[in-house]
Amino acid sequence: MKTTKQRFTFRCWNCHKTYTLYREITMKQQLLVACPFCEKEAVVELAPFKREIKSTLKKVTLRGDGDDGESAGFEYDFPDELPTEERKEAE
Ligand SMILES: [Zn+2]
Repeated sequence: MKTTKQRFTFRCWNCHKTYTLYREITMKQQLLVACPFCEKEAVVELAPFKREIKSTLKKVTLRGDGDDGESAGFEYDFPDELPTEERKEAE
């Protein structure tokens, strides 16, 4: 699976400080992070930032251009600062 490592800024749900981490983005809908200031674990929900890549761009089809395949997939549209939530213990 193709993954991308990116630098993200998170805002701690507990102490409200921001911190930056490199995280790999996968198909998972959540990231687990830990605040370097208060050491609280946090969960970042990625789903709200996920966008399906569809034919969002108006496509001009030229005659003879037979390649009309849609690039199915998704991308993330992240804000500058990602909100985190308290990690709930798995039941
Ligand atoms: Zn913190």
